[in-house]
Amino acid sequence: MQNEGGCHCGAIRYVATGQPYNATACHCLDCRRSSGAPFMAWFSVATPEFRVTQGKMALYASSPGVQRGFCGACGTSLTYLNAALGEIDVSTATLDDPAEPAPRDHIWVQSRIPWVELGTFLPAHARNRDGSS
Ligand SMILES: [Zn+2]
Ligand SMILES: [Zn+2]
Repeated sequence: MQNEGGCHCGAIRYVATGQPYNATACHCLDCRRSSGAPFMAWFSVATPEFRVTQGKMALYASSPGVQRGFCGACGTSLTYLNAALGEIDVSTATLDDPAEPAPRDHIWVQSRIPWVELGTFLPAHARNRDGSS
């Protein structure tokens, strides 16, 4: 499996190989503030399965142990890396074909903006799907 994508201006291109998992829509405050969007759709791959193929991502430490990757030229949010987990989350909306992997649930809905309707029949979790933060 190969998922390719990039930022809005085209400076950053990436490829995520391997089987995506934990496809979700995250409503947490950090995702909202760092992206400027009401929520973010993510999928995970094992860290070695993600590769930047063009340009160099800028990094932002959004919380302890976490680095968010984005394009320093156009600002597109691209990745979320918690090094302790051995996996990297990739912004689904930045895929060339974002139809899949479609989110399978909503997480951090306790932080959801009230006007964002969860207009699907996906499971919704107040915090993370395992209850962790
Ligand atoms: Zn860019
Ligand atoms: Zn989040």
